[in-house]
Amino acid sequence: MPEKMEENSPWQTALTQFNNVSKRMNLPEDIHQILKHFSRILTVSVPVRMDNGSTASFEGFRVQHCSAKGPYKGGIRYHPDLTLDDLKALAMEMTWKCSLVDIPFGGAKGGVVCDPKKLSRGELERITRRYTYAIQPIIGPDIDIPAPDVNTNEQIMAWIMDTYSMNKGFCSPGIVTGKPLNIGGSLGRADATGLGVAYIAASAVRQNKKTLKGLNVVIQGYGNVGSAAGKFLEEMGCKIVAVSSSTGGIYNPGGLSHNAIIEHYRKTGGFRYFPLAENITNAELLELPCDVLIPAAMGGQITKKNAGKIKAKLIVEGANGPTTPEADEILSGRKIKIVPDILANAGGVIVSYFEWVQDAQCYFWCKNEVNAKLKILLERSFNDVYAFAQKNKYSLRTSAMMLAIKKVADVFTVRGLYP
Ligand code: GLU
Repeated sequence: MPEKMEENSPWQTALTQFNNVSKRMNLPEDIHQILKHFSRILTVSVPVRMDNGSTASFEGFRVQHCSAKGPYKGGIRYHPDLTLDDLKALAMEMTWKCSLVDIPFGGAKGGVVCDPKKLSRGELERITRRYTYAIQPIIGPDIDIPAPDVNTNEQIMAWIMDTYSMNKGFCSPGIVTGKPLNIGGSLGRADATGLGVAYIAASAVRQNKKTLKGLNVVIQGYGNVGSAAGKFLEEMGCKIVAVSSSTGGIYNPGGLSHNAIIEHYRKTGGFRYFPLAENITNAELLELPCDVLIPAAMGGQITKKNAGKIKAKLIVEGANGPTTPEADEILSGRKIKIVPDILANAGGVIVSYFEWVQDAQCYFWCKNEVNAKLKILLERSFNDVYAFAQKNKYSLRTSAMMLAIKKVADVFTVRGLYP
């Protein structure tokens, strides 16, 4: 019997999922014990001078799960509701994600509890620099390499890179990925997660001998990941029928033009009141009739409360952890296929890996080369997961986790335990 899973606790969910998969695949107990624990968790205080002259102290974290296959890797998230438990779940997930797509990294995640919407640019910069200083003892291009995540971007990566480099006394582009191009960033990195989601959606519909042409797509969260996915899916022939931001969304069954809605967002700061579209809430958006649903916002969006009402035929998880385990069960009972986050959104960390390789070589690739290599890695990973799922009658999520965990376990087996 699988362990009972609690909703709305990301770490409990991640751990229970790991325990269940580990049991099903007969993971040796010693490796199970190592992998359910974290290599290192650092909590830091981030005191910062605010624009009004006062000092505010923020809480920051860096969570390192496993480095058996290479340096720790994972994003930095700025969010007012961020908890250490969220980061533990996300760091463990990064270990599985990197392992699944065969890039030589382990898993980590970090962040600062703050609301970037309420901070000035100067305050954001000072928080970033002080946080970088605080976690500097445990990061490095061969140790742990941060990247963008929710509410962080290439400017924040540039400040991290500059702070680390100034403290070290030499320029160290490999310390972060997702940087601006002129300081060692990679072409294609900004759009990589969304492009990956589009490649994976194409691979998933191909299994039913279909193409993306004419399919209706709903995207929750039209930010970094969602809007890039929308742009590429539109180019591949899909009709984007609904999108949203944190303030709400819009729906037009006749289709929405990517360029027009981006322009509307630029002008108004949201998607609502777009001509000829119906205003909808984020909750309504998830339940719209469509072929492909892409949750690309926060975790925990598809739960036991709405899973029974979802009308999509395929869900491609652009966000990390958007579906709770109970919802997963309901959806699989309803034969709705879900491509799990560790596969669906792996495009970001794959191109982070390409960026890190290019920085190490001091030799940069053209965009076509980046995108072609991304496509090869993602399609290969999808095919492996799909074939494993077909053969063993497991869900795509269970299959992806099993393959990923097996590869990490094999590394422990050959490396052995020190001392
Ligand atoms: N934050 C992204 C993720 O969750 C990217 C991480 C990275 O590039 O290291 O996969």
